[in-house]
This record gives sequence, C-alpha cells and structure tokens, in this order.
Amino acid sequence: MLEADALDDHRRALRIAVLAKQVPVPDSLELQPDGRLRRDGLVLEMNPYCRRAVAKGVALARSSEGSCTVFTLGPPPAEDVLREAIAWGAGEGVHLCDAAFAGSDTLATARALAAALRREGFFDLVLVGQDSVDGGTGQVGPELAELLDLPFASGARRMRVAGNALHLGLEHEDGWEEIEVSMPAVVSVAERLCAPCKASAEARASVPPGRIRRVTAARLGTGPWGEAGSPTKVGATRALHDRREATVLSGDLASQVATALRMLEDRGALSGQADPQAGPPVEQAVVSTVMSPAHRWPAVAVLLQPDRPRAAAELLGAATRLAGQLQGGVLALLVPPAVGPASADEEVAASLGALGAYEVVRITARQAGAPLAAEDVAAALARWAAANHPKVLLAASSTFSREVVARTAAALGAGLIADAVAVDVIDGTLVARKSAFSGSLLADVTCTSPVQLVTVRPGALTQAPSAGPPALVSYLGADQRGRQQRRLLRQDGECDALDRADVVVGIGRGVHPSEYAAVEALSTVLGAQLAATRKVTDQGWLPRYRQVGITGRSISPRLYVALGLSGAANHMLGVRAAGTIMAINADASAPVFGLSDVGILGDWRQAVALLTDCLRARTMARGIGKAPTQG
Ligand SMILES: Cc1cc2nc3c(=O)[nH]c(=O)nc-3n(C[C@H](O)[C@H](O)[C@H](O)COP(=O)(O)OP(=O)(O)OC[C@H]3O[C@@H](n4cnc5c(N)ncnc54)[C@H](O)[C@@H]3O)c2cc1C
Repeated sequence: MLEADALDDHRRALRIAVLAKQVPVPDSLELQPDGRLRRDGLVLEMNPYCRRAVAKGVALARSSEGSCTVFTLGPPPAEDVLREAIAWGAGEGVHLCDAAFAGSDTLATARALAAALRREGFFDLVLVGQDSVDGGTGQVGPELAELLDLPFASGARRMRVAGNALHLGLEHEDGWEEIEVSMPAVVSVAERLCAPCKASAEARASVPPGRIRRVTAARLGTGPWGEAGSPTKVGATRALHDRREATVLSGDLASQVATALRMLEDRGALSGQADPQAGPPVEQAVVSTVMSPAHRWPAVAVLLQPDRPRAAAELLGAATRLAGQLQGGVLALLVPPAVGPASADEEVAASLGALGAYEVVRITARQAGAPLAAEDVAAALARWAAANHPKVLLAASSTFSREVVARTAAALGAGLIADAVAVDVIDGTLVARKSAFSGSLLADVTCTSPVQLVTVRPGALTQAPSAGPPALVSYLGADQRGRQQRRLLRQDGECDALDRADVVVGIGRGVHPSEYAAVEALSTVLGAQLAATRKVTDQGWLPRYRQVGITGRSISPRLYVALGLSGAANHMLGVRAAGTIMAINADASAPVFGLSDVGILGDWRQAVALLTDCLRARTMARGIGKAPTQG
C-alpha cells in the first residue's frame, strides 16, 4: 500500500466517497430451524472488503490533501461502521437510515446510494468493497456506476493515481488485468489491496456525533425505496447444516489410513474416481423440438464469453431446459473474445446451435481496433433487451459478465439474482436458488420485472447436449466509450477444472512447496485438483484462483482431502457443499477435525505416502484409474 501511495501523482485534492456495509461476523451466524437468522447474539462488523476501501480512501484523501466521506445504508446500529471509519481518519459519515429502506435489494440499495452521492456533490472516486461476506453479490458497485454513469473497475489489488487517471491492477477469479481508467470512477477493492481499517470500541465511541449525518428516504426523493423499489423477492429459505461425522482416528498411521479408506469407501467417496479431463455430466432429458420463429418467444437469452466454453455449455444447458418449460427458444448473445481473433460465423452457428441456441447475436465493436469494455456491452445489451423483451437473461458469474449484467439490470430497472446455483421455472416464473451467508442458507429468489436476470455460479449446472442444427447469426453493434484502457490481461485457464473436480486435495500452510511432489502423487491417483488456504496463496505458493473459502472459491467435490490446514471457518465455508471431507492434521485440537467426516491424526507426509500406496494398489486391483506402472 505504501509503495503504491508513494507513487501517486496528485495534481489536485481528491474528493473520495467510500461505501461501507455492516455484516454479521461469520462465526456468530446462527440460523433458526425455519432458516431465519437468529438476531440475538449476532455480532456485527464492517464488511472485510469495505475495511480496505475505507483504508484506501483515507490514505488517498490524506496524500492528496483531499477529503474522504463514508456512506452506509442500514438500520441504526450500522452507524458503528461510520464511527470506525471516522476513528480511522475519514472526514465524515453519511448514514442512510430510514424504515423506508427496509427490504432493499441490491438495485434499491444502489439507487438510494446513488441519490445520496449525487446530493453530496461531485466525487473523483467512489470506492466500494468487491463483495460482501453475507449476500455475496458484488452487484451494488456496478449498478451504482451505471446509475451515476461512471466507469467501473472490479477487484483492485493495486491502485495508483496519475493526474486524472487511475492505474489499477485488478484481481479476477481467473487472472490479472491492468487498466487505466479516467476519474471520476467507481472502483471495487480486493481484500488484499491494503491493510484494513480497524478501530477499537473506545475509539469508535469517542467519535463526536456531529461528524455523522443521517439522511432519510424523503431527503433523497420520492423513491420507490426499500422493498417497494426492489425487483427481486426472496421466497422460501432453508438452512444448510454441517452434518459431518467428525470421526477422528487414533493409533498407528497405517491402521488409521486403512480405516479411513474403508470409511471413505462406505460413504461412496471413492467410487467413480474421476477422470479430471472428463467434465460434468451432460444433461439427458432436453426438449429438442425445432420451433418455428413464431414459437421462439419468450426467449431465454444467454450472455456468452467465447473464452469460457464450459460456462457456455452449462448456461445453454440450463437455458434449453428453461426454454422448454416456458415454451420459448434459446438465443445466445456472444461478446468478442478478450484476446485474439473472433471465430467465423459458420463455426459459431454450428457450435452454439448444437448446444441449443436457435440464434446467435454477435455483439461487435462499432469502432475498429478498440476493445469493448463491459459498460459498452451493457449499453448494447440493455438497448437490445428493451427492444426485444426476453423473458430471462442468464450469464456466468465471471468478473466481466457480472458487470455487464449488473449494469444492464440497473439500466432496465430489472431484477438481478447473482451467483445462483440452480434455476427453474415454477408456475411460469423463473426461480433461482442462491446461497447466502457463505453457504449456510439457500434461498429461492424471484424477479418481478418483465425481464429476469441471473448470473450463475460456474460448475453449478449441467452441460447441454450436442444435438441442435446450426443457429442463425445476427449482429448487434456496441459503441466504445473508451473510458478504460487495458494494458495487460493474463488469464489462468484452470479454474474451471477446480470448480468441477470430483475430488479436491486442499493444502494448508502445514505443507511446504518443496513437498508438493508428494501431494501431487496423491492427487494423481485420486484424479484430484489442488486447492489451497489463503495463507498458501498469500505466500504465492499456489495461484490465487486455487484459494477456497469465504474470499476465494466455493467448491462442491465428492471428496475433499484437507492436508495440513487448520480448518478456519473462513476456509471451511468454501467446502461446505463437499460430499465427504477427510482431514489429516498433526494437532488433535485443530478445528478441521470437527468439520470433517474422517480425521487422520498425524504427520501428513507419512499419511499421504501410505494413502497414495493404498489407493494405487486399489486402482490397479480394479483395473481402473491411472496408476503409473511399477518399475
Ligand atoms: C476476512 C478474511 C477472509 C479470509 N478468507 C479466507 C479464505 O477465503 N480462505 C482461506 O483459506 N482462509 C481465509 N482467511 C484466513 C483464515 O482465517 C485462516 O487464517 C487460514 O485459512 C489458515 O490457513 P492454514 O489452515 O493453511 O494455516 P494455519 O492456520 O497456520 O494451519 C496450519 C495447520 O497445519 C497443521 N500442520 C502443520 N504441519 C503439519 C504436518 N507436518 N502434518 C499435519 N499437519 C500439519 C497445523 O497443525 C495447523 O493446523 C481469511 C481471513 C480473513 C480475516
């Protein structure tokens, strides 16, 4: 942080706004049997990402001799995050606090915050957290940017001011991007941009009341605010309980390993050992009737990125099923590739037609040479949707598509359900299932708007079969506003494989990189992918996209093997959906044992060597798997 700040080149005092949200501390979350959150005993704090946004906002305001104002929307206790920000060095706090804001979804929240920001005057920079650890939507930032007509950049891990521009290093789920963006802009900050803002209870209590202003709904205009202005509705919810066996074995390691393998076998955790190249199951029962154009509406539209073929197959699989239920057709909107040339029309028509699309609308840049930013695609998409009235628009939960869809939703005033794990049509209405509170709760969410937008978590849906005829191809021109210049894009191509892996071996700080060969031997015999804790990715021992947990990925393998990791809640929340968890740890008091089904107590090195040998013998005996031939 200091290094980046030292390079800042301020030509004027910056006016900075920071949005900070109050969230429940994950460890204090408890759900009642009806799936509702237990309010008593709930500990609230500033969202960890927002802590970085505040710290960065204060640092930039100080170094440019400017100002930093922090905004929050929430009930009276949310004032505490403003106190903390001011104790850390922010100039003042603005609290949007009114019963009329109750029940706000992300769009209603973004609308109220946009109105408050406009009311306060001009800001050079609006900083928001990349995500929030409760809802986990990451939508408010791009929706706000759309409503304020500002450029948006997601996941800043490096930030440097150069005159009127920001040089940003952006952390994506599958890579790294460096861009230059002109101010004013909205930027969401990654958790590791800088050290977090944290102030003691005494420091928070000593903030003078005059530094915080309360703003009511009436002061922001006529609305509609809160629930009335929210196009998404949360329906049935249910709690997901951790029902792990928590059996911790003891005795000599060889007998522990033998018992553990028997237990895994009994649980079906070893059956159908995956071929890591195989991909997910292909959906079988799909309506494949070729419909006449008159029957293709209402359309289920799907936003596709050409560099994400697996996500495209999943989205088209879901869209084909939904279109069958809605008696409509599937239309694919294809953005140009992030790098390299676009495929020929015939190739696109054949490949996406085979996956169920009857038409492919290729979104193309109107001005040759310059790439399309998410805001450019969103503007074209909103125009297209307003003219063509699709019933549903599906997209993957990637950094690019999330911004496109959030901006489109804000432009249309439509409901957006982020990061769904399942989609269905019930009584003619799209219902998306979304996990909240880091996977402890599943909720059915619907949209009341005529077009319903959903981003879907990669790996959550089945792929489409290859059967349909070539699609029609048409074009949609998009204008480049040129508010962002990309300097570098580096994509890591393997995160798909981790999301889909049947078996995952998770590595913690107890496994040194010099010993990874031993872990790889186990992974090979299991057909497993490697995942890691944050301590591992922070050290740069494994790439960031392999991090699992509250600020990493959520995965749902059949078997998760936790090696040399303590089992912190922040990590284990990312593997809640695993079928079976086996932990190997030398410390009997490690929390991971309470959150696993099978525990081996001992040094991972010996346990992994024994496990690898036993599994090799097992696969060879069965004549399956890929055990190397013995020399
Ligand atoms: C806001 C926030 C977000 C976070 N998000 C994430 C996240 O997304 N994902 C994440 O993983 N973490 C996250 N963390 C960090 C998390 O809280 C833990 O600090 C981290 O997961 C611990 O990593 P670890 O288990 O590798 O290391 P440690 O806690 O240091 O555990 C190492 C373990 O290895 C065991 N061990 C050592 N040597 C051996 C051996 N030879 N044989 C067997 N066992 C051995 C030890 O007994 C110990 O239990 C977050 C933290 C914060 C504050």
